[in-house]
Amino acid sequence: MTELIDTRTPEPKRFIPGATGDWEVIIGLEVHAQVSSNSKLFSGASTEFGAEANSNVSLVDAAMPGMLPVINEECVAQAVRTGLGLKAEINLRSVFDRKNYFYPDLPQGYQISQFKDPIVGEGVVKIAVGPDKQGNFEEVEIGVERLHLEQDAGKSMHDQHPTMSFVDLNRTGIALMEIVSRPDMRSSDEAKAFVTKLRTILRYLGTCDGNMEQGSMRADVNVSVRKPGGEFGTRCEIKNVNSIRFVGQAIEAEARRQIAVIEDGGTISQETRLYDPAKGETRSMRSKEDAHDYRYFPDPDLLPLEFSREYVDELAKDLPELPDEKLERVRKDMGLSAYDASILVSEKSIADYYEKTAKGRDGKLAANWVINNLLGKLKEEGHNIKEAPVSPDQIGGIIDLIKANTISGQIAKDLFEIVWAQGGDPAAIVEERGMKQVTDTGAIETAVDEIISANPDKVAEVKEKPKMAGWFVGQVMKATGGKASPQVVNQLVREKLGL
Ligand code: ADP
Ligand code: MG
Repeated sequence: MTELIDTRTPEPKRFIPGATGDWEVIIGLEVHAQVSSNSKLFSGASTEFGAEANSNVSLVDAAMPGMLPVINEECVAQAVRTGLGLKAEINLRSVFDRKNYFYPDLPQGYQISQFKDPIVGEGVVKIAVGPDKQGNFEEVEIGVERLHLEQDAGKSMHDQHPTMSFVDLNRTGIALMEIVSRPDMRSSDEAKAFVTKLRTILRYLGTCDGNMEQGSMRADVNVSVRKPGGEFGTRCEIKNVNSIRFVGQAIEAEARRQIAVIEDGGTISQETRLYDPAKGETRSMRSKEDAHDYRYFPDPDLLPLEFSREYVDELAKDLPELPDEKLERVRKDMGLSAYDASILVSEKSIADYYEKTAKGRDGKLAANWVINNLLGKLKEEGHNIKEAPVSPDQIGGIIDLIKANTISGQIAKDLFEIVWAQGGDPAAIVEERGMKQVTDTGAIETAVDEIISANPDKVAEVKEKPKMAGWFVGQVMKATGGKASPQVVNQLVREKLGL
């Protein structure tokens, strides 16, 4: 449809695991994202997931004769918001077309989609690829060719009865956004980063929940290979890949297959394939030669979709802060590294949690606590951030106690475990359990003196090896039940030993 020119910069890295020779893989994705909306694209039926089969079907969805589609304004707004989030051109006039084909889960006999005039034109998604051996990330821009609105089909079920197939029309007519990338990706890692970033943007925008397990987002993966710098090769399209991990696996399996075919003297024929995760390979589904002629034509039941620039500007005004902007802001305002910032903005719920924790506090310390302690422990226990038993206020409370020198970093870790297991106000727990660090120099001094006089051999050693001072610090900490201020102990040990 669009002229294919290689606009990709910078120079990509070439690595196809398990493949021989110097080959480059070219990837373009068509992502289907279910629009977050209570009702369907052209009917008032509910979009609720997991409802009883055929309970969310209106007469329009069932394609009863004489029923007319009525555009759902919220779905249009969601598509425009998504276009804005992808920094894309918004087309003030777009057209709905009928894409004609027969399938039992498509009672209309056609899908209403947008062909020549989509609602959203060219945009861009920035991805960070890496880290490389030096720990650096490379930023790459992936072009978006278009985004159009279309209806989802129903679901055929072949595994419910030995001799019959069943059809569930609950999904029929739900709004999808098809987001088509340019063939700008050059590795499975880039394709995975693209889908991940796209999902993050959609979730920030609230235009798609991005739940791939529930089928809210699925990708058609186009793959071709070529000798570096040469013409684009013939592509194959792998349909309906439903997890980010499988996107990566499907690309590598398909690239290896194509390279093997070409190196064997064969040619690639354009076809639609399926990825089989159990076998780790793609297999042919249908060839493009006998591809359907869909006989697209403008749907006579629907007027062209037109709206004003003011309407778009109004939606733009209410757009939330997006991950790229948030990343820049937290880096600048909180002095975070790009890496830490990217973890914190990777999910909106994590970003919200972090911002609440960091409010009015040391942003770097808050980042450390959220990333290392909170996210670390959540991962260990297989929970997501919404299930965290510790609130931003509670972690903030722990950080305040560290900052006020009331507790040491070590005690803070114990305190975090207590709050995690039992809840409660960190300051009150420290009070009740006598966890305050001892900063009273007198008490610490006594402990230091005792350790020194009890260990004359170590004192002799430390004169030769000043590093041994750490042993004394450790002994004093032990003697004070870990509550002595490490700074004060350090200072006193060095003074008393004359280091
Ligand atoms: P169609 O309309 O047949 O699906 P498009 O031109 O719209 O074809 O392309 C569909 C997808 O295939 C796009 O994501 C595009 O980037 C990708 N694509 C096109 N050519 C190639 C190629 N040679 N290798 C890999 N991907 C490609
Ligand atoms: Mg296509």
